[in-house]
Amino acid sequence: MRLQTYLNDFLSLIYPKLCLGCDAPLPKGSKYICPACHYNLPKTNSHLSDDHLFKEKFQGIVPVKSVLVYAYFIKDGIMQQVLHDLKYNDNQEIGRMMGRWFGHDLLLGGYADSFDLIVPVPLHPEKLKNRGYNQSFAFGEGLSEVLKVPVKEMLIREKNLASQTRKDKVHRIQGVDGIFAATNADSLNGQNVLLVDDVLTTGSTLISCAEPLLAAGISSLSIAVMAGVK
Ligand SMILES: [Zn+2]
Repeated sequence: MRLQTYLNDFLSLIYPKLCLGCDAPLPKGSKYICPACHYNLPKTNSHLSDDHLFKEKFQGIVPVKSVLVYAYFIKDGIMQQVLHDLKYNDNQEIGRMMGRWFGHDLLLGGYADSFDLIVPVPLHPEKLKNRGYNQSFAFGEGLSEVLKVPVKEMLIREKNLASQTRKDKVHRIQGVDGIFAATNADSLNGQNVLLVDDVLTTGSTLISCAEPLLAAGISSLSIAVMAGVK
């Protein structure tokens, strides 16, 4: 064990792990992002205000209780690096880390008892096959750890449902645009759902996901994303 620690210290002298934000060598105890870049993350603080530009993307389309965006997505900024590492460098842990960080902010912001269930936006089956994991699920896992709310895959891309039996169809509910369906829809009834995704741009994917959840009779819908494009 001790030898391993020495070896790791030695290796990090030769190949120091660098901060995703500023490329500086990471101090001991920091993972992926140095303390200065963590402190300076372009947070939106959307969880502290009910009236903000991210919520406007959903207004008049789907009833959303809270739209919670951890940080702004800025071109060539730190969140672009984080998302790239999460999606293309097999770094699920950075998604969980972001989820934990945001989870702590949400607890401090009064969201301790707001949700019953965290539901990630499902990945396209082909992408899932290539990547091997759903990055939104990793973010949901981090949130789940801190908020003490379970995270479950409850949505499926409708394309994927073709092979399911008729019996399964009774228990699923499809959105009006037919892209996503809720599986095991009965269990969603009355739940306060936090729908999570890695990035929010126009909101169209999240809106498509919201439809079958609302149709399944959930009590409230909120949205949490790692990064939002203004
Ligand atoms: Zn840094």
